[in-house]
Amino acid sequence: MLLRKAIIGYCSFSDIIFVVDEDFYIKNFNEIIPFKRLLDEVSICYPQFDQEILEKAYNKAVELHGAQLRLSGEPYANHVIKVALLCCEFKLDFTSVVAALLHDILEDTNYNLESLKTEFGLEIASLVEGVTKLSKISLASKEDKQAENLRKLLLAMATDIRVILVKLCDRLHNVMTLQSLPEPKRKRIAEETQEIYAPLANRLGLYRLKALLEDYSLKELKPAEYNDIKQKVDNLAKDLHIFAKEFSLELKNLLEKHGISAQISFRLKHIAGIYQKMVRYNVGFDQIMDILGFRVIVPTVMACYEALGIIHSNYHLVPGRIKDYIAMPKPNMYQSLHTTVITQNGKRVEIQIRTPEMHQIAEQGVAAHWRYKENGNFDFDLSWVRDLVETQKYISNPEEFLQSVKGELFQNEIYVFSPKGDLFCLPRGATPLDFAYAVHTEIGHSTVGARVNKTIVPLNYKLKNGDTVEIITQKGHKPSKDWLKIVVTSKAKNRIKQFIRQERRELAIRAGKELLSKELLKKGLSIKKLERSEDLEKIIKELGLNSEEELYASLYYGTIQPQRVLLKLVPESDPLNNAISPQSDGLLNKIFDSVAKTSQKVGIKVSGYSDVFFRFAKCCQPIQGERIIGYVTKGKGITIHSIRCPEIQHLDPLRFVPVQWDDEFSNDLRLVTIEIDCVNEQGMLSKLCGEITNAGVNIASASAKTFPDLTAKIMFDIEVRNAAEFETVKRNIEKVKGVKRVNRVIYKKPA
Ligand code: MN
Repeated sequence: MLLRKAIIGYCSFSDIIFVVDEDFYIKNFNEIIPFKRLLDEVSICYPQFDQEILEKAYNKAVELHGAQLRLSGEPYANHVIKVALLCCEFKLDFTSVVAALLHDILEDTNYNLESLKTEFGLEIASLVEGVTKLSKISLASKEDKQAENLRKLLLAMATDIRVILVKLCDRLHNVMTLQSLPEPKRKRIAEETQEIYAPLANRLGLYRLKALLEDYSLKELKPAEYNDIKQKVDNLAKDLHIFAKEFSLELKNLLEKHGISAQISFRLKHIAGIYQKMVRYNVGFDQIMDILGFRVIVPTVMACYEALGIIHSNYHLVPGRIKDYIAMPKPNMYQSLHTTVITQNGKRVEIQIRTPEMHQIAEQGVAAHWRYKENGNFDFDLSWVRDLVETQKYISNPEEFLQSVKGELFQNEIYVFSPKGDLFCLPRGATPLDFAYAVHTEIGHSTVGARVNKTIVPLNYKLKNGDTVEIITQKGHKPSKDWLKIVVTSKAKNRIKQFIRQERRELAIRAGKELLSKELLKKGLSIKKLERSEDLEKIIKELGLNSEEELYASLYYGTIQPQRVLLKLVPESDPLNNAISPQSDGLLNKIFDSVAKTSQKVGIKVSGYSDVFFRFAKCCQPIQGERIIGYVTKGKGITIHSIRCPEIQHLDPLRFVPVQWDDEFSNDLRLVTIEIDCVNEQGMLSKLCGEITNAGVNIASASAKTFPDLTAKIMFDIEVRNAAEFETVKRNIEKVKGVKRVNRVIYKKPA
């Protein structure tokens, strides 16, 4: 470990890079760390700070934790002081440092939140409260519990990201000092760190913090592997150190010769990083090429590209290893140019080129936010946290929620272009729909197709790095629920769900109003009159509702029975007379709980009400004009069957409802299958097609089977408006010479 530190420590810009002195944090001190130690560190890290409040927090922590000892025997106060010091090291803001000192007092002492607020103010108090809440949740638990806890964690992050940053420092100190804990607890903490906290640190761009969290977790979970790699790295380190010094100097001179002043440093890949690569690519330690990496820091973005050019013209480059994260920053805002070259003595080395600002963000991630906040030119993108928080509102299935959080945390990103050349970063597995929603919600909603690299692709196409994506939109087009199975980003998921919810609500309001209007009519009242009168407002208030919309939606969903409204208007009306109606027996509730069929075109009336959710049975493909019956399904609305359908004999008779065609909608197309037995002779197929087309009917698909006796069976899926139109087609075909029999296929065994 010492050599490793020595190597990282060899930097010509110690003001930028910072090295965590791991030994200090691991070591047990018998004495409480003096205030001066903390003050010194804070003075270096923060140009301005409130010494009084720092001292007050320090004293409070020492006083309250008093004689408490950690299992290691170290005074408990040292834990919170060390966490505060870690907050300095990782460049969190000063308020976080103070909160770190107090982060365990609500949990472990009898101090309360009220006193904290009065003594330290609201900002610090709410930070401490947030960290305390997080400490109570366990993330390595059963799936549903874990999902619930992740929700809390995300909510805390969305409220104040510093809560999680302090928590990450707390967690780092905890994994550094696992040894003194009992076995099962050690494993749980290490797993939780590896699964959630390290990826979180990474997603927030806190690279060094992430590396340390990963190393200490690995040490606990895979000690043999950890020690093996560590030993190999330590063995290599001495040679690498000499080489790295020489090569740094060589690079520095080369760039200076071309008028670019550069600071060069080098680093060894962290142990868990090497381990992950070995596992991912199933290779041995010797095959890991980027254990040693160089960082070239130059003053400007222009100089970055110049330096890249100079390096490439002096060394052989390894093809396919150049990455331009300046033009395409990673989702955690990381920017740099990466390349791999072969040195004069045949070594492969990775070089990262960046400006000092990029370097600071690369090392500190979201924490750099407060450094730049004053000049306002750095705003860490946390919209993904807000999107995840939104997601959790709609997802009730814990597994699904975990999926989306993990997808967001472990995302392996790809970069794609708009036709204008704008760059978008999406998680691996993203589809054109994700892209469309990333561009704009409206574009997402109205997507009907996509071209990738000028070729039409299906909407579930998996985008690849460098693809140019063009979205084909159609005004007025609406998202469908099936899209939720296609998209992978939380943003797209949320927008689609929002839309569906909104649309369902609008449907509910319209239908609820209609329902009430019909009930009123039976009593000779008109809804228009009611709306104009003051009665409506009175009723809404009496029912404890907020708006007209809410009333109609409640009627629709069955939470309020129309009778309750009627009774208020016509108190003398006999409730028994009104009690039996389809909506009061919960039937409509069942239906309305189901999914809105947004593309619903043909109208169906159920017991006189239109606007219900229904779909046509696939087995019998009913068409307008034939007799139909409805079957109430669990969760999918009403399925409409033809009464001739054999399938209905197997269904629960209690769940049938009478349905009729709604004549207001008569022009919509329905698919039916027609089956023709005929002689197998040349030109038959085209004749039949001709007859169908002449009737003004479209053919959706066709198939034919021939038999040894020179006959054939030809099937067409055709789009007809109603039964009459079908009859016309049938008659035309029957007239064709050679046709023996024409049938409508009214029953297809469901697949
Ligand atoms: Mn703690």
